[in-house]
Amino acid sequence: SSSPDSSSSSPAKGVENVVIIGSGPAGYTAAIYAARANLKPLVFEGYQVGGVPGGQLMTTTEVENFPGFPEGITGPDLMDRMRRQAERWGAELFQEDVEFIDVNRRPFTVQSSERKVKCHSVIYATGAAARRLSLPREDEFWSRGISACAICDGASPLFKGQVLAVVGGGDTATEEALYLTKYARHVHLLVRKDQLRASRAMQDRVFNNSNITVHFNTETLDVVSNTKGQMSGILVRKVDTGEESVLEAKGLFYGIGHSPNSQLLEGQVELDSTGYVLVEEGTAKTSVEGVFAAGDVQDHEWRQAVTAAGSGCIAALSVERYLATND
Ligand code: FAD
Repeated sequence: SSSPDSSSSSPAKGVENVVIIGSGPAGYTAAIYAARANLKPLVFEGYQVGGVPGGQLMTTTEVENFPGFPEGITGPDLMDRMRRQAERWGAELFQEDVEFIDVNRRPFTVQSSERKVKCHSVIYATGAAARRLSLPREDEFWSRGISACAICDGASPLFKGQVLAVVGGGDTATEEALYLTKYARHVHLLVRKDQLRASRAMQDRVFNNSNITVHFNTETLDVVSNTKGQMSGILVRKVDTGEESVLEAKGLFYGIGHSPNSQLLEGQVELDSTGYVLVEEGTAKTSVEGVFAAGDVQDHEWRQAVTAAGSGCIAALSVERYLATND
């Protein structure tokens, strides 16, 4: 295939071909594909959300399941590579947050803190954030005992063979608990209410698994550490009696859901009841022609770097097709 091309073929009348919003695996993959298709994509990387470009993986250490890195790779290193690959093919990157989008009128408008651009298409790849409990020692133990992703971290040496806990009562929490039984010695499921919200099938799987103990009416207050500063347990309170105790555990997994960063599209494209951007199944197409969504902002189910990258690829190829048929 062709080599990186830095020659400029500016879009006509100041209207860009495509603006990509987001700098996670979805946004950068879309940027690589769009740039290689000579679409001269502009990428708004964002900086206020999380403080740096690169998305959620900037907050983790080892990524062990992204294909191509048999020894693993750190999240920031992986994202830096994707960023450089996008740049090498000519994507123009702006470390700016998008503050406003108008996709009701064509050409579309995307406005950041620094500039306003007109474009024929948008790839919305703003990701999602795992909801947190805001425990007093949460920041101290984030990635050192507290995690929001069993698939990502369950097999890590920190947690393998240990007693672990999951907080939450819905499908996410029960999925996480069941997943962790593959690696953990035992899993406690901490549920604030007196019942699970998860589907009947998931509840049955949890209750039939002797490696999971469900604690109802149990509020998670904080994590506690041993004299070496390692996480050693969880401070819990019984909602009905007010009694506090420490449950021994080396890890705490949050299973209380994710919030998609879809605010800018509210009222303009169809979102589901929890705020995820609705796309036509198996595509990146939103309810507005020319607006595509990729990655965690449209995916409440898989939420992996490789699936986000895959959907970024689909979005960019869809843009290429869309622009070719709407010339
Ligand atoms: P994100 O990575 O969330 O990126 C979204 C980007 O959009 C961010 O850069 C954000 O700043 C930007 N943005 C948001 N709003 C705006 C705006 N208004 N203007 C401009 N930019 C904006 N997955 C794995 O496959 N393997 C793992 O080992 C793994 N470990 C993880 C560890 C942790 C701690 C976490 C939190 C997640 C982990 N995941 C892992 C999940 C993985 O990170 C996500 O599935 C993936 O990052 C989703 O990619 P994305 O591109 O959709 O969005």
